[in-house]
Formats: sequence, C-alpha cells, structure tokens
Amino acid sequence: DVLLSEGIDFSSLLLSQPVLEGLSSAGFQKPSPIQLKAIPLGRCGLDLIVQAKSGTGKTCVFCTIALDSLVLENPATQVLVLAPTREIAVQIHSVVMAIGCAVEGLECHVFIGGRPVSQDKTNLKKCHIAVGSPGRIKQLIELEMLSTASIRLFVLDEADKLLEEGSFQEQINWIFSSLPVNKQMLALSATYPESLAQHLTRYMREPTFVRLNPSDLGLKGLKQYYKLVQSHPLPHMVFQEKVQHLLELFSKIPFNQALVFSNLHTRNDVECSHRAQHLADILSSKGLPAVCISGGLTQDQRLEAMSKLKQYQCRVLISTDLTSRGIDAEKVNLVINLDVPQDWETYMHRIGRAGRFG
Ligand code: ADP
Ligand code: MG
Repeated sequence: DVLLSEGIDFSSLLLSQPVLEGLSSAGFQKPSPIQLKAIPLGRCGLDLIVQAKSGTGKTCVFCTIALDSLVLENPATQVLVLAPTREIAVQIHSVVMAIGCAVEGLECHVFIGGRPVSQDKTNLKKCHIAVGSPGRIKQLIELEMLSTASIRLFVLDEADKLLEEGSFQEQINWIFSSLPVNKQMLALSATYPESLAQHLTRYMREPTFVRLNPSDLGLKGLKQYYKLVQSHPLPHMVFQEKVQHLLELFSKIPFNQALVFSNLHTRNDVECSHRAQHLADILSSKGLPAVCISGGLTQDQRLEAMSKLKQYQCRVLISTDLTSRGIDAEKVNLVINLDVPQDWETYMHRIGRAGRFG
C-alpha cells in the first residue's frame, strides 16, 4: 500500500475535473491508502464494504464516488447517505460541499430530526445528495416528500452502528425496501463485528471487501494511559473523585482540545446532562472553556456544542457516546474516558477522535 500510494495523486483515479478541483481546494492532495483502494472500485459500480481505522479518510471515499456519479441536470435525489447521529450527518454534508465546491449546480442537504419537516420539503425540490438520520429519512419517504425513484447509490456510514441490534435495523430495512432494485451500495466502518456481515449480505450483491490490515487495530500516534480510582459504594463519590483526577490531569497535560466521555449512568437523560453541565461549569471556572453534549439536549443545542468544538470556541467537550463515532475535529488531541466504556469497539471509536489522519 505504501508503494502504491507514493507518487499517485487523485488525478490518476480518473475522476472528473470538477471533483479533482474540489479535492485539491479541500486540501486533499494525495489519496490515503483506503481512498486509493476504494475509490476506483466504487467508481466501477461495485458494492463495497470498506473497513479502515478511525481518521483514515472514509468520508472522502463515498463523497468522491457520489459526486462523480451525479447527473446534475436531474434535480431528483440520486444518492442517499445514512449516518447514526445527526452530528455526523451535518459533518458529511460539509465534506460533500467542500469536495463538491466546483461541481456546478450541486445540491446536497441534511435531513435530521429536531427540525421542521416544512424546511425539508423546500430542500427536497432539488437535492442530488440527501444525507440524514434513518428516522427522518424514513419519515420523508413515507410522506412522499423524498422520492426514491432516482436513487442509484445508497451509503451507510458507521454501518456497524446503523445495523446494530436494537438500533436502526427496522428503519433501515424499511428504507432499503423503498429503494430501486438497481443501485450500488457502500458500507463503511472502523470496526466490523461478525453480525454486520450477515446483515450486509442481505442487502448487497457480492460485496467487495476493502480492508487495510484488519488485524492491526492500533491507532498510530496515540498513546494510552490509565489511572485507577478508589471504588466507593456511593456513585456520586466515585464521580467526585474522578473529577478531582480529571482536574489534575488537565493541569498537567498540555493539550489543544480534549473530549471527555462519560457513560449514561442512569436511564435519565436529564440527570446525566445535569452532571455533564456541572462538570463543564467547573472546568470553565478553572479557565478551560467547556461545553457538553448529550441526547438530552435539543437539536439546536447539540449543533451549537459541535460548532463550538469545531470553531475552537471551547477547549473541552464533555460527551456521552453520542459523539464517540465519526466526529472529526482536527484539534482534538486528548481523549479522556471518565468512565470505561462497555465494549472495546466503543473504546476504539472514542480514542479515535484524537490523532485524526495520522
Ligand atoms: P474516518 O471517517 O475514516 O474516521 P474522516 O473521513 O473523518 O475519517 O477523515 C479524517 C480527517 O482526515 C479529516 O479531517 C479529513 O479532512 C482528513 N483527510 C481525509 N482524506 C484526506 C486526504 N486525502 N488528504 C488530507 N487529509 C485528508
Ligand atoms: Mg467516518
């Protein structure tokens, strides 16, 4: 792969001129190894299962394939991209717009819950690429606002999360059944549990696997440490002690921006967001502007927290696993697991928020 990627740039991938221009102005000079492997196969129309570590540039893979396949004269939706969180959908939209900046007449819109459907209706009048969360997309198809007749490419980003037991399976099944039979499908993920293969083979036709060193899951350039905390029968005491350790770490470790992950301890979203807000207030009072994000907030509050992170208006984002996947914020170089996650996949996704693209 190293040999291949040396000296090869995007222009060798036979992409259209506007897409090449967009890649270059988005600051993408050379394809990453996964892009080099997957983009040409995707352009051939194959169904792909793309698995590569966090931060290796999977978004650009499907955005490039999508942009290069559009018939711009047709205002109907031709590409449908699903993502498991609204924040990832918004981020994908901005990558499409960046790489598509030279594609004349391009229309791409985001369709997520927590926003009025009336606005979606206007956006759908002309929308080549629709990016959204499964719930809202299903609703728009049901309401016959989103016509699926012209869809030729169906993308599942963070496919393992989308098809996880008890998450969006039913909605995705429903959406899939509403799509034309003849279409291409791409599924992308950093982790690849066995159950995912079973789901995907139901949807895909002889999918091609594009994987880079699947046995090597270690993230290059990331160092990992742990700190033991005294156990205590009262959970709030453990929390208090963790906060003390956290403050100490923040005073000692130089960092640009940090993400702090905590688990959802109670079934109560509101209570959890109070605790996270409390922590954000403590940090802010110590000179570390912090914001928090969780499913308990309104959509506007969630988008505002994400934009503060990306615009560098805060130093610390305190989050539940809502942002453990997919979120790409360049300056994040410290991830703290205030609580150890429940499974190793979540751990890999969380720590992959730092050290993006090497
Ligand atoms: P993944 O989905 O694989 O976790 P992303 O698609 O979010 O990773 O990309 C991670 C980061 O790498 C982003 O900030 C993106 O802009 C950057 N990136 C992707 N491809 C390239 C490239 N070819 N050249 C330079 N930067 C890139
Ligand atoms: Mg991604």
